[in-house]
Amino acid sequence: MTMEFCLEHIGKTYYDAAGRETVALVDVTERVAPGEFVALLGPSGCGKSTLLHIAAGLTRPTSGEVFWRGAERVPRTAMVFQDAALFPWLSVRDNIAFGIRESGLGAAAIRERVEEQLALMQLTDFADHYPQALSGGMRQRAGIARAWATEPELLLMDEPFSALDAQTRRLLEEELARYWEALRPATMYVTHNIGEAVRLADTVWVFSRRPGRILRRVTVAIPRAERRAPARQERLAAYEEEIWELIKDDVREVLSEGGRHA
Ligand code: ADP
Ligand code: MG
Repeated sequence: MTMEFCLEHIGKTYYDAAGRETVALVDVTERVAPGEFVALLGPSGCGKSTLLHIAAGLTRPTSGEVFWRGAERVPRTAMVFQDAALFPWLSVRDNIAFGIRESGLGAAAIRERVEEQLALMQLTDFADHYPQALSGGMRQRAGIARAWATEPELLLMDEPFSALDAQTRRLLEEELARYWEALRPATMYVTHNIGEAVRLADTVWVFSRRPGRILRRVTVAIPRAERRAPARQERLAAYEEEIWELIKDDVREVLSEGGRHA
């Protein structure tokens, strides 16, 4: 049987202290194949982060289940959070090592892998710094390096670049695309940037407003290697437009609610 990550009939309802309920997700059933890059896109508050946390096993769904079909062991999973979520009391180097300290790798192999990640993310000179001494872009790179060091088979990223300025995020996007090619983990990547989604992903899951359900799966049928080619920009823009048309009314409605969704 082919291996795949399965989200089956996932629903999530939150209850606050007064017992009021927020239905975040209703009946999401999806699959992610090894080596597939999925971008999750939809209006603010539609349940994207919730779904990612459920995929990571950090949040329990109200209904449905998450499992790997056809896997002989539980594949390694890593998550990159929106705000990097580094441990402030650990240096950059120790933050990166944290996720593999119990991986069964020997000390030398751990050190080698950490140094490799530091070099990849251009953090070698900052390895002994603590997170608070880094710029936002560096912290994000350290968060990515920490996830990357585990060589995950399922990579979950929740708006990893959203706190960064436009140029930094474009740069990190290009770096991510490069690192991703080397490892090709099954990936779920939440973004609100449609351009980023169509440049990075094989498939874009387009969500409705809350309660989130998937309106459409858009397959970006342009080989990844060609996505920067000038001749492909028109096609990429057409995908962007198609997705924007799908979500724009929901985005407008969420906006008119004045942020009460969040
Ligand atoms: P997105 O990531 O798409 O912006 P979220 O998954 O963060 O959406 O949130 C979906 C909905 O669930 C929102 O209405 C949000 O306010 C609500 N929500 C998220 N986390 C909690 C929580 N821990 N308790 C109560 N409500 C929550
Ligand atoms: Mg979110």
